[in-house]
Amino acid sequence: MTNNIAEALKSAYNAITEFQIKQQLSQQSRLIAVSKTKPASSVAAAYQAGQRAFGENYVQELVSKATELSSLERIEWHFIGPIQSNKTRDIALYADWVHSIDRLKIAERLSAQRPSDKTPLQVLLQVNISGEESKSGISPSDLFELAAAVAKLPKLELKGLMAIPEPGKGAEAFEQMQKLSLQLQQQHPDAKELSMGMSDDWQEALRFGSTMIRLGTAIFGARETNSHD
Ligand SMILES: *Cc1c(COP(=O)(O)O)cnc(C)c1O
Repeated sequence: MTNNIAEALKSAYNAITEFQIKQQLSQQSRLIAVSKTKPASSVAAAYQAGQRAFGENYVQELVSKATELSSLERIEWHFIGPIQSNKTRDIALYADWVHSIDRLKIAERLSAQRPSDKTPLQVLLQVNISGEESKSGISPSDLFELAAAVAKLPKLELKGLMAIPEPGKGAEAFEQMQKLSLQLQQQHPDAKELSMGMSDDWQEALRFGSTMIRLGTAIFGARETNSHD
């Protein structure tokens, strides 16, 4: 298990670097290892192999793994799942990054609940780029108003955008996201991060400027379906 994770990470790092060189991509991109549904021991194995940034979708899992692994220096927790307003306190306590902000109320709660002795939460706004009714995310037309409001909150730092395109619509959606990101940076020069690309479509995402690719299956193997799914 441990070896598999270390090997999967190594091949992911290599594949990413090779792709960046071949495509002559200039942006720096980081890998977020999505550990949802996987035990803390798998996260620890990835950490031992050099990985520092981990993505979690469910608040209880974030809390239990962050608590269990709190002695690991510079481990970084990225919350990437849908956010209910009664769960913001734990996210404000345990996450370093939040990728899935799509309404002001949630952002305000996270800012208010972020402990004063901690650095501001690094946040991304999730965009519903494929326009799916059922999906989380702010619509592109409402994005800039939300960005302006979030940027004013004292304990949040607006760092960029995130998207989960509809399967099969990757290229078009990633290209639109790249445009939105450049527009956003005109008003918010520090909001350069673009979180997009998963195990099946990270190459495409990198071609359109992704700075954070979120890989779960490619690192930790297939997830068992469980009560969350
Ligand atoms: C589960 C998940 C991922 C990882 O998906 P894989 O296909 O396993 O790489 C990435 N981002 C989000 C938001 C997820 O929920």
